[in-house]
Amino acid sequence: MKAALIQEGGGLTVQDVPEPPEPEPDWVKVKIAYCGICGSELHSIDPEYISRSPQPGKPPRGVDMGPRIGGHEASGTVAAIGSNVKGIEVGQRVAMNFRTPCGTCYYCRNMMEHFCERVIPATGSYAEYALYHANAVYKLPDNVSLEVGALLEPLSVAVHAVDQAEVKPGCTMAILGAGPIGILTQEVALKAGAAKVLVSEPVASRRELAKQLGATVVVDPTKEDLHEAANKLTEGRGFDRVVDASGKPAVAKQALDLADKCGIVVWVAVYPFGTEISVPALHMNGKEITIKGVVISPYCFPRSINLLSELELEPLISIRPIEEINESYHDLLAGKGMKVLIKP
Ligand SMILES: [Zn+2]
Ligand SMILES: [Zn+2]
Repeated sequence: MKAALIQEGGGLTVQDVPEPPEPEPDWVKVKIAYCGICGSELHSIDPEYISRSPQPGKPPRGVDMGPRIGGHEASGTVAAIGSNVKGIEVGQRVAMNFRTPCGTCYYCRNMMEHFCERVIPATGSYAEYALYHANAVYKLPDNVSLEVGALLEPLSVAVHAVDQAEVKPGCTMAILGAGPIGILTQEVALKAGAAKVLVSEPVASRRELAKQLGATVVVDPTKEDLHEAANKLTEGRGFDRVVDASGKPAVAKQALDLADKCGIVVWVAVYPFGTEISVPALHMNGKEITIKGVVISPYCFPRSINLLSELELEPLISIRPIEEINESYHDLLAGKGMKVLIKP
């Protein structure tokens, strides 16, 4: 079968590899329809991130590298099921998580499945077929296309970001960076009741999309005064909630300045390895700001499935053949495209 393999040093090669075997008793074999390119993967070809690798020749933590099939944001059709699998049938349209928590380690037993010590990974989904533990497979509702279904995993991260931000009805919110995670966070936050949402994003097409999808104000931080726009929207107080989805350490720091007293700041992005971001002490003993992180999406998939048909997700999507995967990476790094789905 055709698959895109991650190369050491960045980039992928599309080549023929053996098709996965028939699934083991608890596993499901899926014929992949689409697999989205994740922002975290782009770091594998981004010099700023590669040069900060902790050990020469070793990938930074959390960055997909090494000679294996890439891709983790997939939808498809069930091709075969193992003998123990219940509730999933051959031919069903599905979307998948790329990892299955073990359910029995210390973290799984303490409501922190995202830190599972014995995660069961799926095979990579930049491929015609992939294998998933049955617990990682979610049936798509009839009114959700396979294209939209491929957004389940990134949407689940946005749901976790909104959980972390503790969005309350009527609150004000700033989202810094309108890439896929920023835009999805905006849509989920509006659904959760955020009333005034400012989106800051340097790429014009991304600002336009944010506006089209309901942002109250969009700002080009390279040309406009972000703090002035923030003050105007919040009567000079700052935001109840601020999310950095840019991955830029300077912007993560800026997020702190934009927060109101008792505000919650969520850093949802992946920052270059080893990054340190200083926090003015006055934000703590003068404003009681809370800073939170986001690591994937614990317990968010079932709610994200419900949201797939309730949000406007089609405008984010473009589709490209697997042969154009490297070109797609470079285009995305240049801010071209939003959620690119690779068709194997
Ligand atoms: Zn991802
Ligand atoms: Zn576990």
